[in-house]
Order: sequence, then structure tokens, then C-alpha cells
Amino acid sequence: MDRRSFLFSVSGLTVAPGLGSSAGGGSLGDSDPLFDAWLQGFVDRAAGAGWSRATLTAVFADVTSDARVIKADRAQPELSKPIGDYISAAVSDRRVDQGMRLHAADAAWLDPIAAQYGVPPQILIAIWGMESSYGQIQGGYDVIRSLATLAAEGRRKDWAESQLFAALRILITAQAQRTQLKGSWAGAMGQTQFTPSDYLAWAVDGDGDGKRDIWRSGPDALASTANFMANKAAWRRGEAWAREVIVPEPFDYGLAESLKQPWGAWAQLGLRTADGLPVNPADAAEPAALILPAGWTGPAFLAFPNHYAIRAYNNSMAYALAVGLIADRVAGAPPLLKPWPQEQPIPLADRIAAQESLARLGYDPGTADGVLGLKTRQAARQWQKSRSLPADGYLTFWLIQRLKADAAKIGPAPVGQTG
Ligand code: CA
Repeated sequence: MDRRSFLFSVSGLTVAPGLGSSAGGGSLGDSDPLFDAWLQGFVDRAAGAGWSRATLTAVFADVTSDARVIKADRAQPELSKPIGDYISAAVSDRRVDQGMRLHAADAAWLDPIAAQYGVPPQILIAIWGMESSYGQIQGGYDVIRSLATLAAEGRRKDWAESQLFAALRILITAQAQRTQLKGSWAGAMGQTQFTPSDYLAWAVDGDGDGKRDIWRSGPDALASTANFMANKAAWRRGEAWAREVIVPEPFDYGLAESLKQPWGAWAQLGLRTADGLPVNPADAAEPAALILPAGWTGPAFLAFPNHYAIRAYNNSMAYALAVGLIADRVAGAPPLLKPWPQEQPIPLADRIAAQESLARLGYDPGTADGVLGLKTRQAARQWQKSRSLPADGYLTFWLIQRLKADAAKIGPAPVGQTG
């Protein structure tokens, strides 16, 4: 539809009376009454809050709902990728080599930025590589359109509207052009994949030209990332993010993930570093957690506070591991000592069945949504303990088959449960 005439009708600037959501006179093929109603309401509220209707009209001209965004937002992966596969793809030799080359080529501006913010250049490079393949893949979605679509869809309305207001502020302060606001389907922009509110709060001018151009300037993008890591994520200067460790056998894997204690206490339980080198004093003093991303048969890490700082950028253990491991490799570290186990992807129905089975066996795995989060892992640990299995909380495809069989012994599934 002709969004411009619709908005002019909202703003009262055109004479066409009664221009409803589907009466714009243009193509009606992509008309979406819910989107139109949301947009009209949003524009009215924004105007009521003092935003100029001329600005709103210009910004939302021709903006329609984007079906691709709705689809991506609702997507639930049918198969969950084993973390070893994810890490192997993310920490590829190609990405590591490219990171090393970029560090060598860009050291003149990158190292001073790293020193100023106290974040290693390799960490900044790793985030750059993960977020946009070093600026090459920034996402081609119109950020205003993506956020408007998410706001109208409703599931994350408040978040999306607050990001739209942040995007409007970027535009009226002329920090970026309307056509520059390109990014991911979820509204993350530029080489750092900042949301509009992150941009306003944390983007900085790294190359000294007076602009914060996270789209076209590598120094701006990485200085912005460094500023975010230092001041939002509380990165601790001079400390590592994690160390690969060797866990002795037997070991109480129930201690993994939640208990945080200094290196000395872990060493007393028999842990040693995979490379045999001592833990740096600054890291040894920190409370550290043992993490087993692929369960007890895979690599083990002692995670320091900076591991959780990386999660402030993207709250996922797999993401934080990928960033940390790329950074280590770019700094010259060898690959992990222990290989990732070969695993079978777990279908969504099995992930849900695992949670339902845990619930039927009397544990509390949280909502049976197919997301094997902390609560599910803790319930899995209790079940593993009761069966004298290593209590790592990590449900493999084959362990889930055993869990389902275990639950089936106590009778058929209650009516209404699936899987
Ligand atoms: Ca700049």
C-alpha cells in the first residue's frame, strides 16, 4: 500500500479523508491491518511525546510489515546443532587466519584502542569476526522496518518500540542517514551489530573524524565494541576469559556450571591446565566456574569473570566460547587439547520429550519448550545422579533415548502431553 499517503492521513497533512489501513489507493497486496493499526498508534504516541510528525512521516514512508522478520522471530530450530559443530564452524582456520592478518595490518589503530579500554585486541577482533565476518556481513534488513515489524507483532513490543525511539534519535541527530540503518532481522546494526540503544549508549568515534560510523569505519566499530566491553560488560583488564583444563577421573560433575571458586580450590580437586602452564595470579584470584560445554566427554574449561563479560555482548555460552577461542588462536594459542565429541543433532521432539520425561520422573526441568537451559540441565543432573551416571547435565541424543525409556517405565504419558 501507499504508506506515505497513509501517514499523511495520520498526520492530518493530506486532504484524503478516511484513509484507512487498506484504503491508501496503492497496491493492497501487502496490506496488513494489524501492522497499520500499530503504526498509526505508534506515530500518534510518538507525536504526543513531542516527535515531529514530518520526521515520523519521512522515517516510516513506505515501511510495511516484513514477513521474513516474523518468520525468523518465530523460528524454532528443528535440529539443535551440537556445540562442537557450532564451535568448529565459528572458530575456523579461515576466520583465525583472517583475524591474525587484520591484527597485523590494523595494529596501528587497533592496539591503542585496546590499550585505552583495557580489552585485548584479539577479543575485539574475535567479536568483529563473529558479529559481521570482520565487517563483511552486516545484514541487509532495513532496521526501522524490522523493529516496526517486531513491535507490531507484539511478542517483544516494548523492546522493539524502545529501539525504534533510539533509531529515531540516531536519525534526528544526523548520526546516520535513514538508508544507512541496515542490519540483522532483529535490528542489530553495522560491523559491531549494535542495537540502536547500544549505539546511542556505547558507540564512540575511533578514527577521530567526529562521527560514530559503526557501519563503514573499522576503528569506530572496534572502539565502540571496546567501550561496550569495558564499561557495559565490565571486562577486567589483564585477566583471561577461560583456561582449558583436564578433569581427573572420577569427578563429581555436579560441581560444574554453578559452583564458583578460585583456582586453588579447583586444583585441590585435581584439575590441571591443559597446557600444563600455571594459571596467572590475576586469574587465580578470581572465582571461576567449571564449564563442560559438550558434557563430561568433551573439552572442559575454567571460566573466569571475563567469560561472563563476553556473554554481555550475546548471552550464550557457545557464543562466548567461540569469541574466546578465536581470540586465543589469533593470539597464537594452539587448538584445544581435547577434541569436541562427535554428536548427533537432537530433534525438537526429543528435546521436548526429554523435558517431559524429567518432569514425569519427579524433577523440575522448567517449561517443556525444547530449550535445554540451566533448569533442564540441573534436573538432568539429578536424574543422572540417581542412575549413577556422570552428572554433567548434558543430554546427548542417546542419553535422551535412555531417559525416555526410564520415564516410560512409570506408565504412559499423561493425556495432553506430546512427544
Ligand atoms: Ca569516526
